[in-house]
This record gives sequence, structure tokens and C-alpha cells, in this order.
Amino acid sequence: MNQFKDIILGNAQAKYNRVADSQKCLRVSGKHNDLEEVGHDTYHHTMFEMLGNWSFGDYFKQGAIDFAWEYLVDVLKLNPDMLYATVFEGSPEENLERDNEAASIWEKHLPKDHIINGNKHDNFWEMGETGPCGPCSEIHIDLRSPEEKAKINGRDLVNQDHPQVIEIWNIVFMQYNRMANGSLEPLPFKVIDTGMGFERLCMALQGKTSNYDTDVFQPLIRKIGQLSGKTYGEDNKVDVAMRVIADHVRTISFSIADSQLPSNAKAGYVIRRILRRAVRYAYTFLDQKQAFMYRIVDTLIESMGNAYPELKDQSELIKKVIKEEEDSFLRTLETGIKLLEKVIAETKANGKNSIAGKEAFVLYDTYGFPLDLTELILKENSLTVNIAEFDAEMAKQKERARNAASIEASDWVIVNEGESEFVGYDEAETETKVLKYRKVKQKNNEYYQIVLEKTPFYAEMGGQVGDTGILSFGSETIEITDTKRENNLAIHISKKMPSNPSETVFAKIDKEARLATSANHSATHLLHEALREVLGTHVEQKGSFVSPKLLRFDFSHFQKMTSEEIRKVERLANKKVREAILLEEFRHTPIEEAKAMGAMALFGEKYGEDVRVIKYGSSIELCGGTHVKNTGNIGMIKILSESSIAAGIRRIEAITGETVENTLYEFQDTMTELSGILNSSNVIQAIKKTIAENGELQKEAENMLKERIKAVAAQVIDNRAEVNGINVYSLKGPRIAEAVKGIAFAIREESPEKSIFVGATLNGDKPMLTVLVTDDLAQNGFNASTIVREAAKLIKGGGGGQPQFAQAGGKNAEGLSAAYDKIMEIIASI
Ligand code: ATP
Ligand code: MG
Repeated sequence: MNQFKDIILGNAQAKYNRVADSQKCLRVSGKHNDLEEVGHDTYHHTMFEMLGNWSFGDYFKQGAIDFAWEYLVDVLKLNPDMLYATVFEGSPEENLERDNEAASIWEKHLPKDHIINGNKHDNFWEMGETGPCGPCSEIHIDLRSPEEKAKINGRDLVNQDHPQVIEIWNIVFMQYNRMANGSLEPLPFKVIDTGMGFERLCMALQGKTSNYDTDVFQPLIRKIGQLSGKTYGEDNKVDVAMRVIADHVRTISFSIADSQLPSNAKAGYVIRRILRRAVRYAYTFLDQKQAFMYRIVDTLIESMGNAYPELKDQSELIKKVIKEEEDSFLRTLETGIKLLEKVIAETKANGKNSIAGKEAFVLYDTYGFPLDLTELILKENSLTVNIAEFDAEMAKQKERARNAASIEASDWVIVNEGESEFVGYDEAETETKVLKYRKVKQKNNEYYQIVLEKTPFYAEMGGQVGDTGILSFGSETIEITDTKRENNLAIHISKKMPSNPSETVFAKIDKEARLATSANHSATHLLHEALREVLGTHVEQKGSFVSPKLLRFDFSHFQKMTSEEIRKVERLANKKVREAILLEEFRHTPIEEAKAMGAMALFGEKYGEDVRVIKYGSSIELCGGTHVKNTGNIGMIKILSESSIAAGIRRIEAITGETVENTLYEFQDTMTELSGILNSSNVIQAIKKTIAENGELQKEAENMLKERIKAVAAQVIDNRAEVNGINVYSLKGPRIAEAVKGIAFAIREESPEKSIFVGATLNGDKPMLTVLVTDDLAQNGFNASTIVREAAKLIKGGGGGQPQFAQAGGKNAEGLSAAYDKIMEIIASI
């Protein structure tokens, strides 16, 4: 119904009063979330095709019910004995009585005992907290065998979650508007909105008792069986897994074809979670430890590709994205399993038989392990998990999410009647008036949303950010910090409301910011064209972001762009900039005509019948954004980066105009500073020279150090002492650590047997102990590491090493001489 929200809310005029449609429908998050049911039952999907019919102020209850009956019974020939209808029973607290009108219409078609009262939960439909709502009438079908029917009357199973007595069609009679204070007001015109599940209808028509037994799903189930070597219908757990995968692969493939890629945020995250759920079931119940789902995509395309050609067109991308996601999640699963194994080992070592709920929650939250998988692995180890604790963690997280997302909006305050109109393609400022406004609270943030009659403010859409600017009411001016789009209305965001909102308003956008944004948007079109020319026509726009500062453009392409390719693209696009091509804008063009002109339409975008075409020479795109009058206004385009954002999707970031200019200045300043530091105008030459000189110097320094080490070593050797027939060489005083080590090894060269080197030196103000013993002594009970560690206590330090050589640094320089004595004492005692 999203497409029709504007009409239902009265913001837009309906073109046709009657509409019939089929739409792909996802119920995996928010108010309608069937995700956890999917696969476990046989009639809920993550994505299904919803068939519907609509009336905007045309036919109402009578028409809608008669049409539904005619279609099911006369056209599709369903047996009317199987059908039941529900009607709203009324609600005393809302002061609403039973929907007798709907009931009496049903009585024309159905016996009275097939008409059932339903409560507010099942039979009163609401769009959200506020807005259009009304009673509804559902049609249910009883698909059970005659024997089953003889045992229990079908009417007792309606809305009781029986898998074979299910709802197939819901007819909503929208007749009220729910206000923020909870009261109901009649709508200006009445709306019919109906929804019938195509897959459930197929089940009824094909005489099956599970959606998965119909020809919509059987090819997928067979393919999964073939790939996994499992048979559907033998083991319930395997069956659930096969259903989950058959269902999820549809949702994921369609989403990718519609440009919604799996990601870590928002809608992308919903898709990622669905995919991961499927991987998990394949991993646990079908023993698929490797990417698997992408191999089913061809089967899906065989059965649905004719009706949905986008699946065929993008099959390569779909498979690539799914495979990459599978691979990466399987790696996460492995990590999670290792983590769990550690927890299991610790739990067992502590003699416990259950793991903390918190641990299971971390696995769930970070590694996508649902509780059942954790439990399964635990069970294999005769352990359990504290479920109450897990639930508590889950509740806490939900609460956090709710707090972050909750928005409280007051009712709109109507200031003037009228329709809102965008004049910002032509004007940067205009005189206008406020139509309505309301206060919104989100977290600790309070602001106002304002709707104007005429507005030059572009409301965020198609990747282009909303305009900023000011509204002046007489002498009072308020700042507009952003402009958002809601149900196709431009919503101006402000921290303040003027004291008199009914005064005439002077609305003015920040022209400079807008111009920069427009330049970036037009540059996006030029880059898009250049990319297709350089890389090929497989390049398709997959997303974009256009702000005054920069542009981002995401597109399909399978490998990293080379620097030559990037340069070619820049050169092509900048040539078009220099050609100063005039903008040709076709504001209201029938879509067919636009396509005939060669306009590039984006798949997955919604276009009306009348579209706007933006043409700069050979670059022709359907676009609602703002653009420069002449490509010369872009100044120059510079790509800053090229990267991968998902399998098969690349992203470029670029800047234009003044931002390029500023970047050039920064670059120039850096170069000037560098040549100043290097004292040369040829920076590259100067740096090469410096590096070469440095190398020479380093060599020289090393040589000098070696000589110095030799000299000191010779001195130390001269001062040799003897303890129990062992040569003891001592080094004291200030000395850098590197040198001490060098001296120790140089002495060993000279005196390779029955010798010990003892260093008690100062490296700056840090005391340091070094002990080296020759190999023969190390084999005879002398251990440099133990000796050093023992003595290091006196310098408040630690360290160690090998039996032959060990060093320790410390904090207490005062203890150095005591530490030296200690070492001597140890040596003497061995
Ligand atoms: P149910 O109670 O069976 O979940 P619902 O009350 O959520 O159904 P509606 O919101 O009235 O269903 O949706 C209209 C129709 O869409 C339903 O009659 C059904 O045929 C179909 N439908 C709803 N949800 C799903 C789903 N998850 N998968 C397949 N079909 C569905
Ligand atoms: Mg439902």
C-alpha cells in the first residue's frame, strides 16, 4: 500500500479510482514480522506475492465483497463450502459496533455459520499509530480432508493457527483516521484495500496442503534435495531447513535484483539476516559447510525469470553477492563455534552443566548464532544454557533499540488550506505560506516539521540531500537545517517555530550549498556515462549520494578499476565539463517517450507515468534531482577513491568545482612546504638524494658501532675475573641496550667456553641487566634467564630470554649495583 499512501492521506489525487495490482511483499521486520515462522510452518513466507484491488472513493463494502466472491467462486471455481468470512465484532471502548453492514453482504453468499465475528486484533486494520484505519473482513479456507472436517467443525479452527485452515484474502474497509490522541474521525473518502496471498491461493487451487507442495516451490525444493543429498518429507528438521532455504533464496534474489544489497544497516541488514538464517539451517541440518545457496539461483530464475526479467538480467550479480555473503558468514560461524567450544571447555572445567545466558547472547548478537544452534551444540556436550538470562539480555537489547527508534509526533496543526508545490527547479527563494506544522520528539531531540505551500527547498530524494536555508516571517527568521520527504511532502526541519506561523513567509535556500550539490549531481550523470563507456554497459547504478561536499556513486562491476581506467573516466567526464553542454530538461514526459529518447532508468526505482528527463548531450537520465544549467558550472571532476562495497559492486567518491580547487591548493601548499623543508624545487630528486645519503650514513654508523663494540669488548676482556674456574667478564656504567648485546656476543667469540658475561648498565636512566653464558655452562646448570630474573627483582624489573642469553630492564637504577652483586653471588654458588 506504500505506493498509494499519498492518495489515502489526501496528499495526492488518485489517477484511477479503481486499481488491481500484484506486489512483492516482505514481512520480515517491523509491525509485520513473520520471519521466525517461515519454514517451520507451511504458509508464511518472508516474501510473497500479494494480489490486491483498490477503490479510492469508488466502490466500498458491497462492491469489494461481491468482487472477491465472484473471483474465488465463479472465476477460480473454489468450492464455496470451504470458505469462511470474518467480520469485525465491534469494540465498546472505541465506541464501535459490529460491522453489520459487511455481515449482511456476506449473508448473500455464505450460510450464517460460515460468518464469524473477529476481534480488534484480527479484524480492525491500522496503518500505524495514527492515520487511516478501519474494520476488515478476511476470507479463510478449510483445506482439510473430509475425515478431518467430520471431526472438528472448520469454523472452530478459523484464526486458530491451524496450518490447513488459513486466511487467504483480507479486505480492508478504510473509513476512519486515527488521531494522535487516539480518537477516530471519518476519512474524507473511503478506501478499499485488499490483499490475497498468491502462494496460498495456489495451494488451494492445486489441491495441496502446504505452499511448498505447489509448483511455486517444488522446483526449488527438488534442487536443494539434489544438491544436499537429502529427501524432502523424511525428517522434520531437514524439511524445515529445505523450506527455509527455498523461501529465503527467493527473497534474497529479488532484493538484490531490486538493488537492495545485504549490508550492515537498515534494509540491507534485514536482507543479510535472512541470508544468514538460511546459511545456518543449511549448515546445521543439511550439512552444508560450504556456500550452497547461490547454486539454487538458476532454478529460481528458470521458474520466475519470465515474469520477472530483472532476475535474468542480474543473475550473475545475484549469484556473486549470495556466494560472497555465504562465504563470509560461514567464516563467522566457524569463529563463533570456536568461541563456543572455549566456553564449553571452561564450563566443564568449572564442573558446571549450564552456560550463562549472556554468553549465548553474545553468540547470537555478534556471530548470528540463534539460540537453537547454540543449544544444539551444547546438547552434544551434555550442557544447557540459562534461557531466562538469555531472554533478559534480549529484552534489554530490544528496549535499547526501541528507545533509539521511538519518535513521538504531535498532530499536525493546520495553518492554511492548500496543496504543497515544489518550485525549486526554477527558484531559490519565494514568498509562500505555512500549510501545517507539528512538533516531533526523537530521543532527547525536539524539532518542528513544517510544510509550505510553495517551496524552493529540495526534499531529500534519489540520493540527493535536502536543502538548507531560512524562512523569514516578517522580522523573525528561523533556520531550516534539513528538508526531508514524507509521503511525497517536503518537510522542512527547524528547531524553532515563529511566534506567528500564519504570517507570509519568505523562503530562501542556501544557494551556494545548492549549487555545489547540483554540480555534484550533474557530475554523477557524466561519470555514469563515462563509466559505461570505459568499463562496459554492464555498469548499472546501484546507489548514489550527492551532497554539497562530495558525490558517491555505486555501480555494478566485477573487478577493481585500474588507475588507467579511473583516469580515462575522469578525462571523459571532464571533457564534457569543458564542452559546457547546456542542460535540456523535460519536466513532464510520458515514460515511454523518455525511454524512446534513450533515457537510462534505474531498476527498482519507482517511476510515475510522467517522468523528468535530464539531458546533457548524450547523457540522458530519468532524474528528479537538481542540476546545473550547463556542465561548465561543474568546474572540474576529480575521483578521490574507488573501492568495493559488496560483491560485484564498486563505489567511487568524487569532488567537483570549488572543492577540487581547494584540494589543489592543499596539494600545492604541501608541495611548497616540502620543497622548503628539502630546500629544493625538485622535490623528488631531493628526496631520492636524502634517502641515498641516509643509507650511507646508516652504514657508517653501523661500522662505527661495530668498532666501538670491539674496543669496549677488548677492555672488558682485559678486566676478566675468575670465579670457581669460570671466566667472568663485567660491564658497568651507561651503555645503550643494542651495544651491550653486541659486546656480550663479541666476548663470546673471543672466549667461547667456560665464560660468563654480566652487564649491569644504564640505558639513559633505565637500569638493565644482561647475562650471557657459553653453551658448555648452559648445559651444566647455568641458566642466564633464571639468573637475570632473580636479580631483576632488585631493579624492580622483569625480563628473561634463553638459557644462554637473557636481558631485563627495570625501574630502580639505585638497585643496579646490588643486582650485580646478586648475580655474582648466584654464579659463585652454582
Ligand atoms: P496471517 O494471520 O495468516 O499471518 P495476516 O493477517 O498477517 O495473515 P494480512 O496482513 O491480512 O495477513 O495479509 C493479506 C494476505 O496476505 C493474507 O490473507 C495472506 O493470504 C497473505 N499473507 C500474509 N502474510 C503472509 C506471509 N508471511 N506469507 C505468505 N502470505 C501471506
Ligand atoms: Mg500475519
